[in-house]
Amino acid sequence: MLPLPLGATIGILGDGQLGRMLSQAASRLGFRVAIFGPEVDSPAAVVSAVSVVGGYRDEAALRAFAEKCDVITLEFENIPVETIDFLSGLGKVVAPGSRALGITQDRVREKEFARENGVATVDFATIDSAADIAPALERLGAPALLKTRREGYDGKGQAWVKSAGEALAAWATIGGKPAILEARADFDREISVIAARGPDGAIKAFPIGENHHVGGILATTKAPADVPDALLAQAHDIARKVLNGLDYVGVLAVELFVLKSGGLLLNEIAPRVHNSGHWTQEGCVCDQFEQHIRAVAGWPLGDVTARCRVEMTNLLGDEILNWSTLAAEPSARLHVYGKAVPRPGRKMGHINRILS
Ligand code: AMP
Repeated sequence: MLPLPLGATIGILGDGQLGRMLSQAASRLGFRVAIFGPEVDSPAAVVSAVSVVGGYRDEAALRAFAEKCDVITLEFENIPVETIDFLSGLGKVVAPGSRALGITQDRVREKEFARENGVATVDFATIDSAADIAPALERLGAPALLKTRREGYDGKGQAWVKSAGEALAAWATIGGKPAILEARADFDREISVIAARGPDGAIKAFPIGENHHVGGILATTKAPADVPDALLAQAHDIARKVLNGLDYVGVLAVELFVLKSGGLLLNEIAPRVHNSGHWTQEGCVCDQFEQHIRAVAGWPLGDVTARCRVEMTNLLGDEILNWSTLAAEPSARLHVYGKAVPRPGRKMGHINRILS
């Protein structure tokens, strides 16, 4: 079965821009791609050979999709674990698998997993009932960050709280769902490591990106980041522990806080290609999208050496309407996701500017 031969079909669960760029990378390597997702003419479907439209719990649609695929992967971390198990039950290899997804979909399990694997995280408390809030805040100190355990992204479902009263109110606004209260990380930089592991256990980690968020959404990534060698080694070691601990196949992103005291704390694991890895398209010999395809296809992992420094800037909402000016910039490459409606905050594209 592996390595996948030329012309084989790779299935991708999820139909957004990450699926689109994965599909483009796969077709460059001679594969066909089948996209599964809820939207007709989605960003990923319009560039792929096959599109199956359906909900992630629609077994008939999933079965029709699986019949077309030699291996299946995903671009969206909130695919239900039951969906992955259903597809595996049909005899399909799904990478990454349901264990990796189950752990990373839940902020509490994710932090417990990190600690069990020797990776430090912020202190945290599990919030299952209103009675959990006051003692948790007392222990962690204020301000603390209340987050939903599941399905939060781009700062959604999160609130800083300074008192038990504020925390109770914030918990009510997220519907009293299972939550996590996190101590504030006293960081001066946010970095991420994008790394891949093949089915044979081979690992390659890209140079580090330094991330700048605005309003909880990634605004820019500069890479390779100017970090001391010891920090680079420590960050790559964390990625290696996470990849091996999850028995992972494919590309993942590890978001880290660089503390003012110099240490590193894991913030989040994304079990997929990641926005903070888009710089690799212009910056590295092999980019994160091709690397993911290589990993799930059982091909040799590609060369992650940086060719130049890049600043990636996300184009949100109406910023994409400026495309003709952006397209005329020298030393820059524009990537457009093909989404029809530029809603505020919606990721419409990005531009990679070559710095040196
Ligand atoms: P997340 O969705 O967990 O990645 O959080 C979004 C952003 O909120 C992060 O990139 C940080 O800038 C900030 N943030 C998240 N958790 C913490 C924390 N425990 N302490 C300080 N800042 C945080």
